[in-house]
Amino acid sequence: MPLELVTVPCLKDNYAYLIHDAESGQTALVDVPEVMPILNALEERGWKLGVILLTHHHSDHIQGVPDLVAATGAVVLGARADTTRLPRLDRALAEGDQITVGGETGYVLDVSGHTMGHIAFVFPGSHLAFTADSLMAGGCGRLFEGTPATMWASLSKLAALPGQTLICSGHEYTLSNLRFALTVEPENPALLARMVQVTAARAAEKATVPSLLSEELATNPFLRAGLPQVKAALGMGKASDAEVFAEIRARKDKF
Ligand code: ZN
Ligand code: FE
Repeated sequence: MPLELVTVPCLKDNYAYLIHDAESGQTALVDVPEVMPILNALEERGWKLGVILLTHHHSDHIQGVPDLVAATGAVVLGARADTTRLPRLDRALAEGDQITVGGETGYVLDVSGHTMGHIAFVFPGSHLAFTADSLMAGGCGRLFEGTPATMWASLSKLAALPGQTLICSGHEYTLSNLRFALTVEPENPALLARMVQVTAARAAEKATVPSLLSEELATNPFLRAGLPQVKAALGMGKASDAEVFAEIRARKDKF
């Protein structure tokens, strides 16, 4: 049985995610922007939180950790690279390390770029990838600590997952991401169709995450930097994929 996924809106535009294995009753959480929405989501379902998975050290992803640990006794797993800047770490993780939730085994990918030490959690049996501020719906995180080449390498790892993988990202930024994407590929039919969908979802106050990786590959300009038509549109036909990614990221920073 696949893991059950619950998207938990937090703060103004953050998302945390619960995953639950019905057979064993085990529950894990990805990121802790704030405590009450998460406790409410657990209580509504009668779930007991056992594990907290942290993607990176930014406060909007970890600030609820001390209070949530006090309330639930859950253990905290996060990147070894972030050991000194996470509020608590019971197990330090690096790329390739495995995590078990009930009957399902997931693994860690290093997706540095937004921060150095940003990790993603992939549960291939349930087609889930928790990407926070690396790959986002229609976009990617700003490069606070890594170089464009680092982020391009990280996004390329995620892009290689099966197309039916659900990308569970950290923020509701999709509408503004797609507005920018249209400046890169104004005539991409999949992008135009997604813009219509996302506009309607936001008008109805619905979350636009998680999103399918196949949909990201078809519409997200940061995953499409290697494509000849995107390079041509930017007048960068001879540039490397990472150079084109860097140009798209620089344009988005000014958008
Ligand atoms: Zn962040
Ligand atoms: Fe964030």
